[in-house]
This record gives sequence, C-alpha cells and structure tokens, in this order.
Amino acid sequence: MKSIHQLGDVRGQRILIRCDFNVPLRGDVITDDGRIRAALPTLTSLLGAGAKVIIMAHLGRPKGQVDPRFSLAPVARRLSELLGQPVKLARDVVGPSAETTVAGLGAGQAALLENVRYEAAEESKDDAERARLAAQYARFGDIFVSDGFGVVHRKQASVFDIARLLPHAAGDLVVKEVSVLRRLTTEPQRPYVVVLGGAKVADKLAVIDNMLKVADTLVIGGGMAYTFLKAEGLEVGQSLLDQTKVAACAESLKAARAAGKTILLPVDVRTVTDWDFASRTVSGEILTVPVDQIPADRQGLDIGPATQELFARAVTGAKTVFWNGPVGVSEIDALSQGTRAIARALADCSGLTVVGGGDSAAAVRAFGYADDAFGYISTGGGASLEYLEGKTLPGLAVLEDD
Ligand code: ADP
Ligand code: MG
Repeated sequence: MKSIHQLGDVRGQRILIRCDFNVPLRGDVITDDGRIRAALPTLTSLLGAGAKVIIMAHLGRPKGQVDPRFSLAPVARRLSELLGQPVKLARDVVGPSAETTVAGLGAGQAALLENVRYEAAEESKDDAERARLAAQYARFGDIFVSDGFGVVHRKQASVFDIARLLPHAAGDLVVKEVSVLRRLTTEPQRPYVVVLGGAKVADKLAVIDNMLKVADTLVIGGGMAYTFLKAEGLEVGQSLLDQTKVAACAESLKAARAAGKTILLPVDVRTVTDWDFASRTVSGEILTVPVDQIPADRQGLDIGPATQELFARAVTGAKTVFWNGPVGVSEIDALSQGTRAIARALADCSGLTVVGGGDSAAAVRAFGYADDAFGYISTGGGASLEYLEGKTLPGLAVLEDD
C-alpha cells in the first residue's frame, strides 16, 4: 500500500480523494467534526505540496436521490474554516457544476463534490454500473487517494472501483487507522475485552461470532442487547429486537460459553414509554428495572447502574479494549449514564483502549474527553469491526495492487 508521501511531486496534479465526512448533524449543525479534523493531515499535506484537491464524500443515506437534507454544504463550510481556505462545493457529483468546479481549481486549492450517494450507482451491487460511475469520477483526477477509513469496508464506486482506474495511494488517516488496528489483531495483550452497543442491530449481530474468536470477553449493551436477552428467554417490551436473529444469538451464547469466553449482558436497564430523538426528549418517567422485569409497554434505552458497574469492572481490568457503539441513547442526557460509565472505564483502563464508530466518538467528545484520554479514537465503526474480525476490506485490498 503506497502512502501519499511516495507519490513524488504532485504540484499541479489533480488528486481525487475519498474522505469520510459522514458527521453527526442536528439540523444543519455539525455536532462532532472529528471526522473532518481527522482528514486534515492528508489534505494539508497535499495542498501544501501544490496539488489540486478534489474531495469525494457522502453524508447519511440519501439512497441515490438528490435530497438537500443530505447536502455536504455544512461540511464544506466547516472544512473551509479548519483549512483556513475556501473549499468550493460543487452542486452535483459528476454533472456540469462538478466539471466547472474542478476545471477552475488552481494549485493548492480544494473543492468538494456533492454527496456521492446522490448517485444511485455509487452503492450499486452491479459491478458494471459502479464502474461506469467510477469512470466519470476518474475524469476529475490524475491520482486517487483513499483516506475515508470509515468506508473502506464498502465496495462502492468512490471507494473501490475508482482505485482500479487511477494510480492510487492511501492517505495518512487510513495508514494510521490500519497501524492501530493491526496492534489489536496481532497478539493483543489479554484479557481482551470488546464492548458493543449502538443501534445497527443486524449489522452488529453479524460480527459477534467472529469477535468471539479473537476477544476473551464480549460486553453487549445498546440496542442489540435485547435480542440476546430475548435469546435468554426474557421479554424485552418495546425495546429494539431483531426477531430473526434470536436463535442465532442463543447459538452464539452457547458457543461462547463452551469455548470458555464470557458474554456480559445487561442485568438492569433504564426504560421509557415515550421519547423523541429529534427533540432529544423523554416524556414521562425513566424507570430502571432488572432485565427480567421489563414492562410490556416500555423500551430499554440505557443500561442500568448495576450493569454499569459490571461492565466497567470488565473494562478496567482489561489489557486491551475495543469499544464500538453507545450502550444507550447517549445523545439524550438522561439516557447517557451507561455510555458515560463505559467511557470513564476506558479512560481509567491502563491497557490499550480504542474507541471506534461515529456516534461513539461523538459521545466521548460530547462528554468532554480529549482524544488522548483513550489510546485511539478510530473514525471507523463498521470498518474497524470488519478489520478486527479478520475480514478483507475491499477498499484496502484494492490499494494493494497496481
Ligand atoms: P456507532 O456510530 O458508534 O458505530 P451506531 O451507529 O451503531 O454506533 O449506533 C449509535 C446509536 O445507537 C446512537 O444514536 C444511540 O442513540 C443508539 N442507541 C444506543 N442504545 C440504544 C437502544 N437501547 N435503543 C435504541 N437506540 C440505541
Ligand atoms: Mg453510527
């Protein structure tokens, strides 16, 4: 994998770079700009070397439709501030605005194409369709740089197919992320504890069996815990539940125990009847209950105090910790205690601690932790998990060959 420092003289060259700017937003306000800041080393180094920098990125899931709610305008503004120079945002991805914007770039200037997911072919399962879109991207660059670590597990046009069309290199962020994660996969110091939370239940349930092969203890909180509790024969009320995965979770639990591994599940949870994510509010009382007493009309949205202690003890005693996914709705203050306890435990742990995932990283920064409170804050959620599982990530593999 070539780095950007091995590209030779890039003055005046058009560098087409994929970044991960999928930042959390509230309206059009960026609530955590960590992913934008993480791209600065690569961007400033290329701009300083006199390259013309054309950035590709996505935001949210517009599903192939132009949708102003997913415009990269807030990102272009923030990036301009952070770079201290204007970053022009094209109004389209591969259309006339993108063409004019790219053609107008001078040496040391940067532009951002609109959300690549406005193009349906970006995420297409059809190789030929994606390749056609990648060929349109390729018109804008002489060299492709891959620096969006959070998307390297995706076989998408701006991540994967484009690298087959242009000379390519890995940006500094991708190099750094891979070097940290490699430390977790090559003889990690034990006990090795993995904490999983968040809301992408189906995605994350899929990683559990592989994580059980590498970790000693799996701590499960957040939305996915309820499918496991159900697998243990408990009723979970209105909590997130993937009914199709209950049997698989029961199998995972059995296999883990047989292999001498530990899976820690919540023993108590904080429940609500009514809440609204958009306004970050809970109406009515938050009731903490043991997991075998979740009322039928209530939804578990955070781990309870006994669980906090249980999980924190496992984390502080570990030599290696990887954490992905808030263990509750950490964006709402009253439902953030569990996630705060996990963050504190990682900060207190003297071993190697890595936090991964957009929402997890946003949570620890919102709690006021400096980035150096942890061993590393990864910009990747799904990408980090797949790397740790030992899977081949298409966006990394494609950088290996010429
Ligand atoms: P990450 O971005 O760190 O990989 P995810 O995107 O998987 O994490 O999940 C983050 C989201 O999960 C947060 O917005 C949080 O509010 C939500 N969440 C956590 N616990 C629960 C729960 N018990 N029920 C519903 N949503 C939850
Ligand atoms: Mg997320």
